[in-house]
Amino acid sequence: MADVNITPRISCDNCGLTVDKHLEQLGTNKSFKKPRDWGSLKIEGSRSADSYGGKDRLDFTDLCPKCATAALEAAASVLKTTRGEE
Ligand SMILES: [Zn+2]
Repeated sequence: MADVNITPRISCDNCGLTVDKHLEQLGTNKSFKKPRDWGSLKIEGSRSADSYGGKDRLDFTDLCPKCATAALEAAASVLKTTRGEE
């Protein structure tokens, strides 16, 4: 019987891109990690999104490098404009 090696996969919460997780080995401990160039985004707004007082929010636990970079640049640029530095 062949060894079945199942590598967990990670998928981007925004665009759905799916890749294998990174295997990290420390001594005899093996664990699967999110690739280093992946990111995440968590923003809590101030507007109420529902009648229960829940706020507008963006919550992406896993973002591929492309989406993570786009999200960071978009947020940084809009916040800069809002500060009045543009
Ligand atoms: Zn993505």
